[in-house]
This record gives sequence, structure tokens and C-alpha cells, in this order.
Amino acid sequence: MPYDYDQQNIFAKILRGEIPNRTVRETEHTLAFEDIRPQAPVHVLVIPKGAYVNFDHFGAEATEAEIVDFTRVVAAICAERGVAPGGAGEGYRLISNSGESGAQEVPHMHVHILGGRGLGRMLEPA
Ligand code: 5GP
Repeated sequence: MPYDYDQQNIFAKILRGEIPNRTVRETEHTLAFEDIRPQAPVHVLVIPKGAYVNFDHFGAEATEAEIVDFTRVVAAICAERGVAPGGAGEGYRLISNSGESGAQEVPHMHVHILGGRGLGRMLEPA
């Protein structure tokens, strides 16, 4: 099934400047900003500027430049926020909710960077 991107989703509006955000980092292909409802002391959302619905769409169709840029931004934020184990941080979790089973709320590809506290095990038992 082809990916059907909704131009009216909230992150598309943020990218168009129609809704404010607390920007953490911006590059040619990527925007990172604070989650409006933080679930940990560090809770940053990282999104590509391109119209991708979720991670598998991005991985399948984004350019190499977009993918590299996105990944570097994630790494830079983990370092800046002091959670990267490589920089003696205590660790973090990346989450990319996708589709219905993934309980994705906003249909624009994003990852959550969560850290600054113990995050427990990955999933609660179903
Ligand atoms: P997901 O789609 O991965 O389930 O979660 C979307 C995330 O976007 C949620 O954590 C929610 O708090 C965040 N969010 C929803 N609307 C806004 C908004 O207008 N601004 C910001 N900064 N975050 C938002």
C-alpha cells in the first residue's frame, strides 16, 4: 500500500511555521524540538523535513543525505543533553511509534529521544 501523507498533521504545521515549537536543533533536512508533553527529563522529538509518514517510509524512500543528517542530529542531541553513554551519559531510549499497533499519534515520521531517568524495561507485558 502506498504511503499517504497528511499535509495537515501537526508536525507538518510545525514545519510550515504555523504552530510554534521549542527548537533544539535545525539542519537542512531535520528539525528537533521539545515534546509538548515530556515523559522524561530529556524528551526531544526529531523529525525529517521531508513528507514521510513513519520510519519504514523514511528508510525506504528518503535520500542518503536525509538519512545521514537525521542520524547525526539524533547523535548530536544525545551528546548535548548528556545522555550518550559514549560521552559518559547514563543512556537513553529511541522510540519511533509507527501505525496502529505502534500507537502513532502524529503521522509524520519522528523519533522520541528519552532520557535523564531510568526508563524501565522496554515494554510492559501485553
Ligand atoms: P507519537 O505519534 O509517537 O505517538 O507521539 C507524538 C508526540 O508528539 C507525543 O509525545 C506528543 O506529546 C507530541 N506532540 C503532539 N502535538 C504536539 C505539538 O503541537 N507540539 C509538540 N512539541 N509536541 C507535540
